[in-house]
Amino acid sequence: HEELIQVNNLKKYFRVGKDSILKAVDNVSFSIKKGETLGLVGESGCGKTTCGRTIIGLYKATGGKVLYDGKDVHNLGDEKLQFKKKAQYIFQDPYASLDPRMTIGDIIAEGMDIHQMYSTKKERTEKVHEQLKLVGLNPEHAVRYPHELSGGQRQRVGIARALAVEPEFIVCDEPISALDVSIQAQIVNLLIKLQQELGLTYLFISHDLSMVKHISDRVGVMYLGSIVEISENIALYENPLHPYTQALISAINIPDPDIEAKRERIKLEGEVPSPINPKPGCKFANRCRYVKDICREKTPELKEVKEDHYVACHLY
Ligand code: SF4
Repeated sequence: HEELIQVNNLKKYFRVGKDSILKAVDNVSFSIKKGETLGLVGESGCGKTTCGRTIIGLYKATGGKVLYDGKDVHNLGDEKLQFKKKAQYIFQDPYASLDPRMTIGDIIAEGMDIHQMYSTKKERTEKVHEQLKLVGLNPEHAVRYPHELSGGQRQRVGIARALAVEPEFIVCDEPISALDVSIQAQIVNLLIKLQQELGLTYLFISHDLSMVKHISDRVGVMYLGSIVEISENIALYENPLHPYTQALISAINIPDPDIEAKRERIKLEGEVPSPINPKPGCKFANRCRYVKDICREKTPELKEVKEDHYVACHLY
């Protein structure tokens, strides 16, 4: 597999007040291969959405680089429009992200209009109908408005809108967390099916570790703006190395009571520190049960401790 996206030491800082800096994304590096799904997990506020938006160029990076097919996303020049077509975003809240005054057909066709992807009105309509069918809706939905659709249907429209411009890469930002539990699996399965059919590459952002396990090839765990662990899916869930990942995984419910009885649940004590003007050292230090002196002094670097398994922790 070739690498489609390379994120190198990415930083996204926001100024807060006069002299404070919020480090939403702080020195994040990873890559995504063509056709792969990289899951990005962490609690809300850990910077995963900011990271996704910066990767796709919705935010300007404070530092570092994002390379898409070897090209710097934040300095594309003439190729910017082309990149906007190749890389799409599916938002968390399908209602807030759809213009209530536009018909579903016009919402789906908006990107096709911008990129001039049809030559006649008839072709435009046909393409919209194709997209609707692709996501499990029917052509009649084209003349409806967002408020006439259910939450799950609206997220299908959000997916159709992203797919209409024939992208290669999609950031799926908590695409199911605003939906009823009964609908969530349907949308995830649709995303998996579309990936297989269309050869898409995904960055799948979620706080739901079991859902990420279901969809991802590799998983990165974020804590307070940094990646603390990243590895192939099964290795991460079966043998988590970072104390934070261990705690997150121990909190997943397992339907089998026998396994459940034997499992150790790691309770996370303490609060997540503020991302504003963070202290040096490991950001997890105030909650970690293995904390050592060095942890409060030196920030642990992400390093490869097993094949393709990276962790940022002084224990390794
Ligand atoms: Fe815990 Fe230290 Fe590892 Fe941070 S670096 S997770 S404080 S052991």
